[in-house]
Amino acid sequence: MDQVDAVVIGAGVVGLAVARALALQGREVLVLEAADAIGTGTSSRNSEVIHAGIYYAPGSLKASLCVQGKQLLYAYCAERGIAHQRCGKLIVATDAEQLAQLEKIRLQAAANGVDDLQLLDRAAARALEPQLECTGALLSPSTGIVDSHALMLALLGDLENAGGLLALNSPLAQMQIAQDAIILEAEDGTRLQARTVVNAAGLQAQALARRCAGLDPRHVPPSYYAKGNYFTLAGRAPFQHLIYPAPQAAGLGVHLTLDLGGQAKFGPDVQWVDSPDDLVVDPARGKAFYAEVRKYWPGLPDGALLPGYAGIRPKIQAPHEAAKDFLVQGPAVHGVPGLVNLFGIESPGLTSCLAIAEHVARLV
Ligand SMILES: Cc1cc2nc3c(=O)[nH]c(=O)nc-3n(C[C@H](O)[C@H](O)[C@H](O)COP(=O)(O)OP(=O)(O)OC[C@H]3O[C@@H](n4cnc5c(N)ncnc54)[C@H](O)[C@@H]3O)c2cc1C
Repeated sequence: MDQVDAVVIGAGVVGLAVARALALQGREVLVLEAADAIGTGTSSRNSEVIHAGIYYAPGSLKASLCVQGKQLLYAYCAERGIAHQRCGKLIVATDAEQLAQLEKIRLQAAANGVDDLQLLDRAAARALEPQLECTGALLSPSTGIVDSHALMLALLGDLENAGGLLALNSPLAQMQIAQDAIILEAEDGTRLQARTVVNAAGLQAQALARRCAGLDPRHVPPSYYAKGNYFTLAGRAPFQHLIYPAPQAAGLGVHLTLDLGGQAKFGPDVQWVDSPDDLVVDPARGKAFYAEVRKYWPGLPDGALLPGYAGIRPKIQAPHEAAKDFLVQGPAVHGVPGLVNLFGIESPGLTSCLAIAEHVARLV
């Protein structure tokens, strides 16, 4: 049986960042990816926003890894020439209740170390964005956008330059904990032995962990899927900043994001689904988008929204449960030397990828 020092399962942005970090430590690293290309999962089905670290519970991994990850990501993008833009975002209140919520958001952000938010009254917000309708807004200057695919290509380049390898079309079927090693079996029957295994299989991470003989199944959380649908805007973007409504239960509300080409899209909404493969956007959902968007942009013309794409949030909590933190389980949690499982790496996973990688590298 072939032996490898470290195997990372999944070549999404998180798996690639972890593999890069391990390779830069001088370790021998192999990435196993089921698909025929990198980044075809959730990593290419998101908003590509570099989040500031505003909403997450103080002290959570989401808060600390997002704030640290944002700084690392801006520096990495600048160093490697990865297209990105620190365009800033406005969180808008459209009624008195939401206006009060903005101050709470500002305090929560400050508790997370994000102390650059500015509270704007209606006139100041409209001076920045004349087409915006609101009762007030919070400006987050450190929010931005990034070309996620260019980011993944740069991570892969670093991995390969450090001697790491990527194996595409290599779905892992199961794992088995053995004495001083983990035995991996690919779907084609190939077997490998590794000292370190990082399960970064995204939406499949729990299913894969359940197929790990010797890992106590009590450590594997249930899987839930919250689909986020996007609708793209035909025509010119009316805003220069990202525009977010005050946050809602399972997501950040139907917000406007821009890509680096200036194309605007709205979404993602929240649609709980049963399958991680349910990625078709139902055009009928656009109706609710018009109502939501017109609360802050009354000028949205009829017929301007076109079905775009969808991504699925890998949730570890049921629809009625409160939001949960990233679940990063190393040997101290499950007792298996060398194994790290990454569960529930939803937003802000893209922003946090370099910080998650450093965190995982410390665990193994
Ligand atoms: C709608 C939406 C919007 C989002 N917006 C943002 C945002 O604006 N900013 C932000 O910071 N974050 C955002 N996120 C979160 C971010 O996209 C994810 O946290 C991140 O992409 C997760 O990366 P990953 O590598 O963990 O997973 P993935 O990208 O899903 O990669 C997992 C990989 O594992 C592979 N795999 C699965 N099973 C196996 C197996 N058995 N063997 C081998 N390979 C396997 C898959 O093929 C896949 O390539 C958003 C998420 C969603 C759903």
